[in-house]
Amino acid sequence: MNRKIEFIDLKAQYAHLKDSINSRIQKVLEHGQYIMGPEVRELEQRLEAFTGARHCITVASGTEALLISLMALGVGPGDEIITTPFTFVATAEVIVLLGATPVFVDIEPDTCNIDAGLIEAKITPRTRAIMPVSLYGQPSDMDAINAIAARHGNIPVIEDAAQSFGAEYRGRKSCNLSTIGCTSFFPSKPLGCYGDGGAIFTSDDAIAQACREIRVHGQSQRYVHTRIGVGGRMDTLQCAIVLAKLDRFDIEIRHRLDAGENYRSLLDDVPGVQQLAVHDDRTCVWGQFTVQVEKREAVLDHLKNAGIPTAVHYPVPLHRQPAYQSLCYTSDTLENSERVASRVFSLPMHPYIDNDMQVRIVYEIARALT
Ligand SMILES: *Cc1c(COP(=O)(O)O)cnc(C)c1O
Repeated sequence: MNRKIEFIDLKAQYAHLKDSINSRIQKVLEHGQYIMGPEVRELEQRLEAFTGARHCITVASGTEALLISLMALGVGPGDEIITTPFTFVATAEVIVLLGATPVFVDIEPDTCNIDAGLIEAKITPRTRAIMPVSLYGQPSDMDAINAIAARHGNIPVIEDAAQSFGAEYRGRKSCNLSTIGCTSFFPSKPLGCYGDGGAIFTSDDAIAQACREIRVHGQSQRYVHTRIGVGGRMDTLQCAIVLAKLDRFDIEIRHRLDAGENYRSLLDDVPGVQQLAVHDDRTCVWGQFTVQVEKREAVLDHLKNAGIPTAVHYPVPLHRQPAYQSLCYTSDTLENSERVASRVFSLPMHPYIDNDMQVRIVYEIARALT
């Protein structure tokens, strides 16, 4: 009997980690410090060591990580933030929430990341940050982006690394590639908790201090509110779960890389499938394993009937979303984003997928395309 194919298999992961997750949770239940308990700082220290960033600040979600980062930079009305329209909505949402304007720059059609070559033309005196997204788990061309930012008075660069925790770029870890890196521990991300969670990474002491204060209502000491903040802490139980998962994370990353390579070689033989380009100087941890086809709807229908779950990341670029189309000014057509949004879909991907499943999935894609 074939094993059922899950889009993301958190139960298989739990089976491998059951004892350590249970005992980590038990420990929190016994000490009872549910908010800012010892596991919070323990996790931050482990993640500082993992990424090489000097500071890690855990927060309530990936969205909150992005929001607090922009607040720490003092972003507000009139400011412009350069980013990509081909991302999860949170990337642009936090910009708009602060009264700033997202300035969308088109993507590279082969990596689906922001086209660094188009950024410089969009810089104005109001540009307050550049926010590339490491989409599908592959970092953008961060050195090129950092160099542009440096040439224009050291504009801060925030990597939205919600999908790329564990990836590398030129030997450095995602989240430690620019002024600030933000990630998410949403359950389906490469390193997930069992609820909402996220983290901010920086090696800038002043930004780190600002983020720590903003996370707790702008408080520098108890009931001394030196700035406007939010209630943005990650709770102790979620930190404990990530700590347990970290012990297996390197193994899981290896499995993700292997599963990605396996898909790529299987799909090489299938005409009509355009694969993501992955650059030699970086790794993609396949937060999503996403490909492009013409006639996507027919392929998705076929896969659904064959019992293979899929998803579309993302069907509508943000400049076409009802709430955003009037907010961000761009005279550009952003045609790569629009074309890619009409062609992408994501295949089941997690560290516990096996070759049999991948062969079945690719076989059904090939059938759908003939
Ligand atoms: C998931 C995700 C976020 C938001 O993370 P949450 O933890 O769900 O708030 C932001 N940006 C990108 C690119 C994401 O994939």
